[in-house]
Amino acid sequence: MLISDLRQRLRALGANPTHESRVLRHWVQNLPLDAGKQPLQGWLPRAVMDALPSLFAELDGLLAVRSGHAGGDGVSARLLLGLHDGQTVETVLLPRDGVCVSSQVGCAVGCRFCMTGVDGLIRQVGSAEIVAQVVLARRRNPRLKKVVFMGMGEPAHNLANVLDAITLLGREGGFGHKQLVFSTVGDERAFAALNEADVKPALALSLHTTDADKRAELLPRAPRLTPEELVDAADAYARASGYPIQYQWTLLDGVNDGQEELDGIVRLLKGRYGLLNMIPFNSNEGLPFQRPSWERARAIAAELSARGVLTKLRDSAGQDVEGGCGQLRAREAKGRPA
Ligand code: SF4
Repeated sequence: MLISDLRQRLRALGANPTHESRVLRHWVQNLPLDAGKQPLQGWLPRAVMDALPSLFAELDGLLAVRSGHAGGDGVSARLLLGLHDGQTVETVLLPRDGVCVSSQVGCAVGCRFCMTGVDGLIRQVGSAEIVAQVVLARRRNPRLKKVVFMGMGEPAHNLANVLDAITLLGREGGFGHKQLVFSTVGDERAFAALNEADVKPALALSLHTTDADKRAELLPRAPRLTPEELVDAADAYARASGYPIQYQWTLLDGVNDGQEELDGIVRLLKGRYGLLNMIPFNSNEGLPFQRPSWERARAIAAELSARGVLTKLRDSAGQDVEGGCGQLRAREAKGRPA
């Protein structure tokens, strides 16, 4: 289901745009029908009011939890969610009141270090299915305040659905726009659309290397923009939106952790409006990469910070559930417990 379908159905029942907004707000903020500053009961057209219980039940049925793995911190959890057609996506409750949602089943980019990319793109996740992941997360953590689009899929390849979800979450969901994070490998259409968007999310750019040829090997079907072009486009968006860019770097032992790369990072990112998130690779059978030692990763982050590039090494809190997007789905597909 798409958010636009939902709006059309409400309109067909006699709802005006204000009614629609209130109904959607109750859904996204997980409010009972008679709760909130402006309760719905007694305020909506009769036909809309009568239809709401079954409509909300239908929205609840968009996702079903197939399995869940709780992190050691009591908050984080990685969930495998079943969609109506039997496909699955992963949603991760993050430490510090965030959720990471999936925008596609599978992914066409095919990053060599990612299980999600192994089978290519299977289907898009609809805008209502994206928002439903947030609603489900909010039920588990009512303090939820951040939504990152870093789960399965490349958001730029499902742009309309992702931007519809971001608009709804930003307008009716109670999230600060800066707390919605669009993560991409970099795509000109996405940069253009974000610049035009009413609700401007923060941007995370998956860089992973400063070498264009190496990037083409690691991210074989990402648009052929050079690291310099990507950083220029991201930096322009950061300055237009007022939010710093989160440059993402999956640290692969012996691949993108050498001195040449560190010099390249300083050359590319020093003075830019952003920070570098370094995430040591989560070793996974079936993928030909290794995780560098934590000491090595810490030394790299320290060197970059000392040379003027603010670098954050993702701490281990929740890493047991965060790392290796696509692994639960891959395990289930192999007939092993997810
Ligand atoms: Fe797709 Fe992201 Fe995995 Fe790359 S890392 S294959 S863009 S899901």
